[in-house]
Amino acid sequence: MGLPVKNAMNGYLTIPKSICCKLCKTCGARPVIKADAAGLYVVKCPNDDRHYQTRAGLIDIDDWNRNNSLYYVPCRDFNSQVSC
Ligand SMILES: [Zn+2]
Repeated sequence: MGLPVKNAMNGYLTIPKSICCKLCKTCGARPVIKADAAGLYVVKCPNDDRHYQTRAGLIDIDDWNRNNSLYYVPCRDFNSQVSC
Protein backbone atom coordinates (compact mmCIF):
# COMPACT_ATOMS: atom_id res chain seq x y z
CA MET A 1 0.00 0.00 0.00
CA GLY A 2 1.09 3.61 0.25
CA LEU A 3 3.98 5.24 1.98
CA PRO A 4 4.39 4.71 5.69
CA VAL A 5 2.42 7.37 7.51
CA LYS A 6 3.42 8.86 10.78
CA ASN A 7 0.22 8.33 12.65
CA ALA A 8 1.33 8.77 16.23
CA MET A 9 -0.24 12.20 16.25
CA ASN A 10 -3.37 11.13 14.47
CA GLY A 11 -6.06 10.94 17.10
CA TYR A 12 -3.53 10.44 19.84
CA LEU A 13 -2.44 12.82 22.52
CA THR A 14 1.21 12.78 23.37
CA ILE A 15 2.19 12.67 27.00
CA PRO A 16 4.29 15.67 28.08
CA LYS A 17 7.93 14.89 28.75
CA SER A 18 7.50 16.23 32.27
CA ILE A 19 5.23 13.31 33.06
CA CYS A 20 7.07 10.25 34.21
CA CYS A 21 5.89 7.22 32.32
CA LYS A 22 7.38 3.84 31.59
CA LEU A 23 8.07 2.66 28.09
CA CYS A 24 6.06 -0.22 26.64
CA LYS A 25 7.41 -3.41 28.15
CA THR A 26 6.87 -5.23 24.87
CA CYS A 27 8.40 -2.88 22.32
CA GLY A 28 9.87 0.03 24.25
CA ALA A 29 7.63 2.73 22.80
CA ARG A 30 6.59 5.75 24.81
CA PRO A 31 2.85 5.45 25.42
CA VAL A 32 0.27 7.77 23.95
CA ILE A 33 -3.19 8.74 25.12
CA LYS A 34 -6.12 7.91 22.92
CA ALA A 35 -9.48 9.56 23.36
CA ASP A 36 -12.33 7.38 22.20
CA ALA A 37 -15.67 8.47 20.80
CA ALA A 38 -17.30 8.36 24.22
CA GLY A 39 -14.75 10.79 25.61
CA LEU A 40 -12.92 8.12 27.58
CA TYR A 41 -9.17 7.98 27.62
CA VAL A 42 -6.89 5.01 27.14
CA VAL A 43 -3.16 5.03 27.76
CA LYS A 44 -1.75 2.68 25.18
CA CYS A 45 1.22 1.63 23.12
CA PRO A 46 1.25 3.55 19.82
CA ASN A 47 2.48 0.52 17.92
CA ASP A 48 0.14 -2.31 18.73
CA ASP A 49 -3.28 -2.56 20.36
CA ARG A 50 -2.31 -5.96 21.73
CA HIS A 51 0.36 -4.43 23.92
CA TYR A 52 -0.74 -3.26 27.31
CA GLN A 53 -3.37 -0.56 27.45
CA THR A 54 -5.27 0.82 30.38
CA ARG A 55 -9.00 0.48 30.73
CA ALA A 56 -11.00 3.30 29.17
CA GLY A 57 -11.80 6.04 31.63
CA LEU A 58 -9.63 8.65 33.24
CA ILE A 59 -6.08 8.98 32.04
CA ASP A 60 -4.31 6.52 34.28
CA ILE A 61 -0.60 6.73 33.70
CA ASP A 62 -0.04 5.21 37.11
CA ASP A 63 -1.80 2.06 35.95
CA TRP A 64 0.27 2.02 32.79
CA ASN A 65 3.46 2.40 34.82
CA ARG A 66 2.54 -0.46 37.13
CA ASN A 67 1.87 -2.78 34.24
CA ASN A 68 4.91 -1.93 32.17
CA SER A 69 7.67 -2.65 34.59
CA LEU A 70 8.83 -5.84 36.20
CA TYR A 71 9.06 -4.07 39.51
CA TYR A 72 7.15 -0.94 40.31
CA VAL A 73 9.16 2.05 41.40
CA PRO A 74 7.21 5.25 41.83
CA CYS A 75 9.20 8.01 40.22
CA ARG A 76 7.94 10.80 42.39
CA ASP A 77 4.69 12.32 43.38
CA PHE A 78 2.76 13.46 40.41
CA ASN A 79 -0.85 13.63 39.46
CA SER A 80 -1.78 10.63 37.40
CA GLN A 81 -4.67 12.54 35.94
CA VAL A 82 -3.53 14.85 33.20
CA SER A 83 -5.59 17.79 32.15
CA CYS A 84 -5.21 18.46 28.49
ZN1 LIG B 1 4.33 -1.73 22.55
